[in-house]
Amino acid sequence: MIGIDLGTTNSLVSVCDENGPRVLANELGEDLTPSVVAVAEDGAVLVGRAAKDRLITNPEAGQAFFKRDMGTTTTYAFGGRRWSPVECSAVVLREMKRIAETHLGREVDSAVITVPAYFHDQQRQATVNAASIAGLRVERLLNEPTAAALAYEFNREDDLNTLLVFDLGGGTFDVTVLECFDGVVEIKASSGDGRLGGEDYTEALIAWMAKELGHAAPKDQQMRWRNVVEHLKRRFTTEETVEVQIGEKKVPISRADFIDATNHITMRLWPAVRRALNDAQLTLKQIDAVLLVGGASRMPAVQDMVRHDLGTEPQRSLDPDRVVALGAAVQQALCVGGSAVRDIVLTDVCPHSLGVEVAKALLPGHSQPGYFDPILDRNTTVPVSRSRNYRTLHPQQEQVILKVFQGESRLTKENHLIGMIRIDGLKSAQDDPQGGMFEVRFTYDMNGILEVEVTISSNGKKLTEVFEQRPGTMTREQIAEALKLLGSLKQHPRESPANRALIERAHRLFTELTGLLRDALTQELDQFEAALESQDPKLISAASESLDAFMKPYFAGDD
Ligand code: AMP
Repeated sequence: MIGIDLGTTNSLVSVCDENGPRVLANELGEDLTPSVVAVAEDGAVLVGRAAKDRLITNPEAGQAFFKRDMGTTTTYAFGGRRWSPVECSAVVLREMKRIAETHLGREVDSAVITVPAYFHDQQRQATVNAASIAGLRVERLLNEPTAAALAYEFNREDDLNTLLVFDLGGGTFDVTVLECFDGVVEIKASSGDGRLGGEDYTEALIAWMAKELGHAAPKDQQMRWRNVVEHLKRRFTTEETVEVQIGEKKVPISRADFIDATNHITMRLWPAVRRALNDAQLTLKQIDAVLLVGGASRMPAVQDMVRHDLGTEPQRSLDPDRVVALGAAVQQALCVGGSAVRDIVLTDVCPHSLGVEVAKALLPGHSQPGYFDPILDRNTTVPVSRSRNYRTLHPQQEQVILKVFQGESRLTKENHLIGMIRIDGLKSAQDDPQGGMFEVRFTYDMNGILEVEVTISSNGKKLTEVFEQRPGTMTREQIAEALKLLGSLKQHPRESPANRALIERAHRLFTELTGLLRDALTQELDQFEAALESQDPKLISAASESLDAFMKPYFAGDD
């Protein structure tokens, strides 16, 4: 069993042994594998760095940031067919599984996978489906900030007990308040914004640049602009002013410009912090430490916000890029009863309120549907099971379509519909003027997946989780079909992923060079391809070293 941090921008795979949790590197020696999928010219499915590089030269050949679309019906067209976010995630998960198998030297069939605490039921279900396609059973879906807290608890040397985990990733923002004491990690509350993250800063900087240059990125330059800006954004972590070259033009930009251009995004961070504190019934003063998680939490503007608005110097003992993956490994060890983690106990909460739609009788004989009646309040400790009784509107009424919603609004139309259950045979036996009664029980487990059980009071008949098909989720048959399709796609026809990545990188460099340098690269590349053709490991290794050495100076400092 392994731990996987399936991130918006990067994914990581980890294990935990007697020495504690560690992240496993891919063939390129990197812990972070870009969450990008592409299809190469020969039809091979590329993942990670190779896919990312391919997108720079051929933006239409693949997809990044699909985690943001999990649980929706969005599809992407590339490689001659349509891909769902679930399938793209499956390709990344399969790669994580492969990396782990290479390290461990044996087959891996299950995983602890982290998801943003703010993922709703459909997004969680979509993640489980992606894992099945990748050939992994999900042992546990673990909320990312909870994973961070587990890693923190594992490494803890201080006695700071009340923590706020501030997790700003590529696409999502999660805030979690928790208490750690005597090896117990108790999540108090969790809140966030599912569409706020580092990529919004990138977008804002791209818009700023377009304004400065007087035009938007031409279509074939969009990926390049994004890369330039991504690089720029990272440099602001340590530098005050940087110069950006686009085409012929050099534009100086200062950290202050960057902070100004993105201030409206930083402002959106605060409400989630306030809500998490309110739900945990704590004040800022009671927070002992703020733990920063997610690559985007490295931005000085974000750290300043923590320092000023939260009044705390952020904790930096754990690497924000790796802490979630390390926590996933700790959880994995907890699941199998590993010796390194015997002393840690975890309790979590459900991040959204869950309930059903009801009609309110506002005037006699007149009822108004569309109201949300919560059965589980947000931030209730899980696992939890609670029930409520309901009546039909009329004594003669036979049937109710029970709609299950997730959200915080009083009106269901502003919440998220999870599914519907048709309840028949409700007419009350004695024609009770108050209508037939039934009990609705919600059970929410540690994976954040909801089970609904309905019991009809008059005859004791039970219905369990009979959801109709939901958008973005897949039936067993659909999963089997996707599995077959992915299985039949050639993944790495003759080269290893490392060689593939080298070629994509060389193609990317080719578009950037001119003249003699381009000729020199062509020569290196030809030699490498000839070596691959020969299938002689010695030739391949020599040619790949030479090509790699040639390209290194051009990518120095690249991510
Ligand atoms: P994650 O989803 O946690 O991998 O976070 C990735 C996000 O963090 C992306 O939006 C990156 O652009 C951003 N990021 C990573 N490192 C830095 C950095 N040094 N400065 C600013 N943003 C960063």
